[in-house]
Amino acid sequence: MRKGFVGEILHYFENIPKYIPEIYKAKNSFWGDEKIIIDMLEGEEKIIKEALFNSWFLFDYKLSNGKTPLKTYYLINFLNFDENDRENYKNLLKSKYGLWRIKKVDFEQGMLLSNLVDGSEFYVKEKKATYNAKVDDVILQRITKIDDHYELISPDGNSYFPDGLRNPTVGILLRYKKLNPKIIKNVFKKQERLAELSDQYLNNDFLQKKIVGPNECFCDECHKTGKIGAFLTNEITGEPLVFCLDCTLKINARKNKTTVEQERHKREVLFKASNLFTMTKVKDYCEAKGLAIESAGMDILNKILPSIQEAWNGLSVKERRSFDGLNETEMIVKFSNIHINFPK
Ligand SMILES: [Zn+2]
Repeated sequence: MRKGFVGEILHYFENIPKYIPEIYKAKNSFWGDEKIIIDMLEGEEKIIKEALFNSWFLFDYKLSNGKTPLKTYYLINFLNFDENDRENYKNLLKSKYGLWRIKKVDFEQGMLLSNLVDGSEFYVKEKKATYNAKVDDVILQRITKIDDHYELISPDGNSYFPDGLRNPTVGILLRYKKLNPKIIKNVFKKQERLAELSDQYLNNDFLQKKIVGPNECFCDECHKTGKIGAFLTNEITGEPLVFCLDCTLKINARKNKTTVEQERHKREVLFKASNLFTMTKVKDYCEAKGLAIESAGMDILNKILPSIQEAWNGLSVKERRSFDGLNETEMIVKFSNIHINFPK
């Protein structure tokens, strides 16, 4: 499989007249009202934006034959491939797109990546990408098997998140079970717009006025005072909102098609697990340092709690689900396998 095969496949479709209207339709669907702006872009910016579309078009878009362009290309050209490429294209059809945590970097050799949703791991052969890669940073990429190894194959510009799990965009993207470049484009666009809108709220302690006690707020939903449940942003106006616990549970129940009681239970279970995790890891730290846990003062806690929090946030959805229904002892056993990079 030659370098630049993604471009080649796209080129193939652009040169067959019957596919021109399909590409046009796909572009309209992908860009919506942004299409005119995209058409006017030039240079690197254009290349980056187009790479995002190309990736979505080839791997996710369904042509009028009901198949993706990649699958269509594979079926039409099947007999022209040698056996090796046939295997490579087959693997390409199974390629995996998503957020990956960098677990290990071997300079100019490759990286070990772990999927943030299902925890699956791949060692990818890479040279250039290792120059600036750091452990615990997060990348958005498509991984495929080529010959005897795995490679990264989505060269779009917004794919690296230097703060890893502390990056708010990573948190937003993790709400999607399965990502594709169109979702990415829409999330980035929404964020740009919200950043502009919320600027106007930042200067006049807008949110501060809604917090009325250490754990109490004036709720934007029921307009009563209550225990703080969640902070959100109005997606149209950019206004920061705060909801009381009761309203938060009601909103979540509506969203997840569950009952308020189920939501309350879910929250308690998660809260218990995350508290237990913190306790266990503080204890581990103290034991390793030969300290009595009672002597762990604020200075020690301030030092180690951020890394514990980060490790907790970094667990995949699948890993978190695996705590459901466990008792404390069973959970502690599971927690002992989770490594934390404590600050020196
Ligand atoms: Zn409320």
